[in-house]
Amino acid sequence: MPEAIPFIDALPDLSSRLARAKVLYTDLDGTLLGRGASLLKDGSGQPCLDAATAVMELNRAGLKVVICSGRNARQLMEVSRMLGWDDFIAELGCVRSYGRGARRVYDIGVWPADATSDDETPYEAIVRVGALDLLRAAFPGLIEYHDPWHVDREVTHVLRGNVPVAEAQVLLDALPLPVSLVDNGIIHPPRHTLVGVEEVHAYHLVPFGVSKPRAILADLAERGITPDEAIAIGDSAADVAMADAVSLMVTVRNGLDDPVLAAHALARPEGAVASTRGSHGTGWRELAEAWLAATGHARA
Ligand SMILES: [Mg+2]
Repeated sequence: MPEAIPFIDALPDLSSRLARAKVLYTDLDGTLLGRGASLLKDGSGQPCLDAATAVMELNRAGLKVVICSGRNARQLMEVSRMLGWDDFIAELGCVRSYGRGARRVYDIGVWPADATSDDETPYEAIVRVGALDLLRAAFPGLIEYHDPWHVDREVTHVLRGNVPVAEAQVLLDALPLPVSLVDNGIIHPPRHTLVGVEEVHAYHLVPFGVSKPRAILADLAERGITPDEAIAIGDSAADVAMADAVSLMVTVRNGLDDPVLAAHALARPEGAVASTRGSHGTGWRELAEAWLAATGHARA
């Protein structure tokens, strides 16, 4: 187990690992995007072109980027179009979209095919079994819907707050359908109705078994490439799990501010997870330019 999370430029085999990479899976919020989910702002809200420049450089080089986010498919369709990308993974791995929306693949984890009743979405099934009511009753004032981004979802629920995840999971384990509570990192909502919560996390309620790494493995299989030919970047504990499906998992520097992420990253083998020196889009650009250099592309 590593004592500290290394910076990517301290990895002795960084160049060879990046040279093999054919696809980058990227988280959006807190990773590519800065404050207020802006592509054109850094983490403190100052105007910054690093993320947009890096996207342009990778597009110019023809390097493949796939968004892997907790956001819903409707949002990711628009974001992907704007950035010039064709495929994405939405709702924390539950929805994979190809060819600019031409084809969608759904994953409901370990749920049996008859887990949902007629015309019921997996999203509605999670409500029906009482997962939301259970959490609100157990942790009053500490968890709520991540309004207004909780709408238009097909499988997962996005929440915000600060609850002991392991304790909440024990309660959820008693439900008739297996549902997991996933910590998707620190967020800065402009407003909320939580009580006495300083550090707000985004959480997702997902069918048990669904995850970003599982979706990435399925995506890689479709592309006919191996985890050794993929890299990923994110900023949360849920993102660190992408290390299971790629040769290098990178956290942007601000991800290290999240003690849950740090604990998950330090539990991984040496060199599995590394950090950029820059935060948000600046860190994203750092990885993009290292990838460009390793694959023999000149910088802009
Ligand atoms: Mg994130």
